[in-house]
Amino acid sequence: MLLIRTTYRPATDLGYLLHKHPGRMHVAEMPFGTARLLFTEASDESCAVAVIVEIDPIGLVRGSGTNGQDQYVNDRPYVASSYLSSTLVEFFSTAMSGRSKERPELAATPIPLEFQIPAIRCRGGEGFLRSLFEPLGYTVSCEQLGAGNLYSVNLKAEIQIGEALLHLTVLVPVLDDAKHYFVDQTEIDKLFRRGASWLPSHPKSEEITRRYLKHQGRLTREALTRFAELDGFPEADAEESPEPFVQSDRPNLHDGRLDTVAAEIIASGAARVLDLGCGEGKLVQRLMRNPQITEIVGVDVSVRELEAAKRRLRVGEVMDKVHDKVRLIHGSLTYRDQALSGYDAAALVEVIEHLDAYRLESLGRVVFGEMAPKIVIVTTPNAEYNVLFPGLAPGKFRHPDHRFEWTRAQFAEWCQEIGDRWGYRFRTEPVGPLHDDLGAPTQMAVFSR
Ligand code: SAH
Repeated sequence: MLLIRTTYRPATDLGYLLHKHPGRMHVAEMPFGTARLLFTEASDESCAVAVIVEIDPIGLVRGSGTNGQDQYVNDRPYVASSYLSSTLVEFFSTAMSGRSKERPELAATPIPLEFQIPAIRCRGGEGFLRSLFEPLGYTVSCEQLGAGNLYSVNLKAEIQIGEALLHLTVLVPVLDDAKHYFVDQTEIDKLFRRGASWLPSHPKSEEITRRYLKHQGRLTREALTRFAELDGFPEADAEESPEPFVQSDRPNLHDGRLDTVAAEIIASGAARVLDLGCGEGKLVQRLMRNPQITEIVGVDVSVRELEAAKRRLRVGEVMDKVHDKVRLIHGSLTYRDQALSGYDAAALVEVIEHLDAYRLESLGRVVFGEMAPKIVIVTTPNAEYNVLFPGLAPGKFRHPDHRFEWTRAQFAEWCQEIGDRWGYRFRTEPVGPLHDDLGAPTQMAVFSR
């Protein structure tokens, strides 16, 4: 159970913020039981909402596969847990998105809020509880209820209601350190959606991520790498479509760019190729059937993208000479991987601009210094061309996940530095429709040593 209370005036505005009518009892049938929401107070001075989750204990036991006498000994029906999180999402998804039809401005305003959780297990005790909520601006008071880290918790803050609901949805199961459902890749996306605005800068972000993903090493590593790359930026569906803005205007720009890069690789005579930041595998797809290519490795930091690539390329599904050439590897281009040295060619198509500028240093060392393929092909947007995209406001990037977009001079300067430092020659070329003064939408560099 959770009680949400405000003394903002008029306090009954809470109903508008939560999109729930104070005069009604709201009921949701959940897979694990019944959730109810009702107002326990509704005056101008104070308004409170109780969320009560009634878990069906028989259903719990039925699904659990446990046997023996203690199968009914279970704290889940009365402590706040991931069941409460699922219920909050069910009742309050609109409020969590920061929207309110009737009180849009109030939804964006911090108001005095109080949250009471009568029973929750705090694995890590009071210290951990405080370390989760205090950095987010809550005043925490709590009382231990007997053994087993069972606490009654009260949180107070001046905060936007949507933000607070996101905090609770993520942090309740983190405190409890358990989840009632199987955790997979989609859980990372949920964590990004719910935590984008506050988690990267939270001092306990690592521990929160690890617990939220049920201590699954692979998922936790991916999430942390993604957070590190984001550096506090909200997750954008960057990888889904590298440049949605440009793509919508010129559907063939990205295809044309990939064709150009594939042609360069073939022309170089390369047989063993790396596609670094391969995304959903469109370049791999263009190369794998070419008989000159004997091996092609796609590397990406996003497991979700790699899974899309696997589906697109049918890797691991079809076993034949063509599909056996392809390997997909999860990794970051800012960490060395000796297995990737000694290749003929590497491509980085629309990848560098997704990295914070200070990470380009590591990328340079890893790709040019350690992998050190004979040729490296890099493409990136040409910022000068952006003025030709109608609707792209001046100074804006083509994609929200881009960390920079360079002019031709800036790109040439970076290429020169890389070349000097790691012993590569290079040439740069425009890719796409050429404008007399502004160049082409994409710029490409071909490095060789
Ligand atoms: N090259 C692909 C995808 C471009 S989008 C194409 O042209 O279709 C950029 C890709 O770089 C994304 O898939 C993203 O997950 C990946 N990426 C970003 N940072 C990375 C890093 N540090 N290491 C590996 N891949 C990274």
